[in-house]
Amino acid sequence: MKRIAIYGKGGIGKSTIVSNMAAAYSSEHRVLVIGCDPKADTTRTLYGERLPAVLDVLKENRKPDVSEVIHTGFGGVRCVESGGPEPGVGCAGRGVIVAMNLLERLGVFREDIDVIIYDVLGDVVCGGFAVPLREDFADEIYIVTSGEYMSLYAANNIARGIRKLKGKLGGVICNCRGIRDEVEIVSEFASRIGSRLIGAVPRSHLVQESELEARTVIERFPESEQASVYRKLAEDIYRNTEFTVPEPMDQEEFEEFFRKFRVEGNDGAS
Ligand code: ATP
Ligand code: MG
Repeated sequence: MKRIAIYGKGGIGKSTIVSNMAAAYSSEHRVLVIGCDPKADTTRTLYGERLPAVLDVLKENRKPDVSEVIHTGFGGVRCVESGGPEPGVGCAGRGVIVAMNLLERLGVFREDIDVIIYDVLGDVVCGGFAVPLREDFADEIYIVTSGEYMSLYAANNIARGIRKLKGKLGGVICNCRGIRDEVEIVSEFASRIGSRLIGAVPRSHLVQESELEARTVIERFPESEQASVYRKLAEDIYRNTEFTVPEPMDQEEFEEFFRKFRVEGNDGAS
């Protein structure tokens, strides 16, 4: 069983990548997606609407059965949302642990599943960050970033967190915002932290159009170039056997790395 966790700064495109990867895998593999974000929106485009989160189900029924917490979406993908506390109250990590314990008790992990993908809260100061790694739920990690300063800055911090937990990083995914030399910047970033670029997803209006209908690009526009990009990314990750414990840059190195691209003419404009 392949157990993948996707990390990245808030709003960078994690859930979009997770749901499209899951949709891509569904033609050949049995897939389980676990959204670990209190927003509980990872699986919306797979299921067609928002799912009740495990923590909410547990509030109503202390002993729910499998059908109340796992819902089958596009291509037979099994979908779970851990849920979590309201913004500003309590720890999101707890929600993930409670959800995982329940899934374990219900025997979900003993079923035939080929791929599990976790959509992880990217905030390093939040307990939700560490849970999939610390609790040994996931084996391999991918970081999503754009070529923008804050996204790379967060990615570097995430690399630090992964190193602390001795996680295995399988690569960096560039989700493009459309800035100049973006893929090159992210590729250089990946090698500076001892990893590599494993895929680059262009910015596309098809993402929003699919999202509006609560569907993935793979389902809504299967013939599109964007769908092919997600399929290739999924395939490359599936076949990946190269992992490293990342080596984050220190503050000075990071600034120097970023300045290098600005000096070479990247002013952040497209
Ligand atoms: P959060 O941390 O808040 O959960 P996230 O990292 O999961 O965010 P998404 O929800 O996947 O990010 O994406 C944020 C927004 O960016 C979404 O509205 C999505 O439609 C858009 N988006 C993501 N990837 C692309 C892309 N390649 N092209 C165009 N829009 C994109
Ligand atoms: Mg998300």
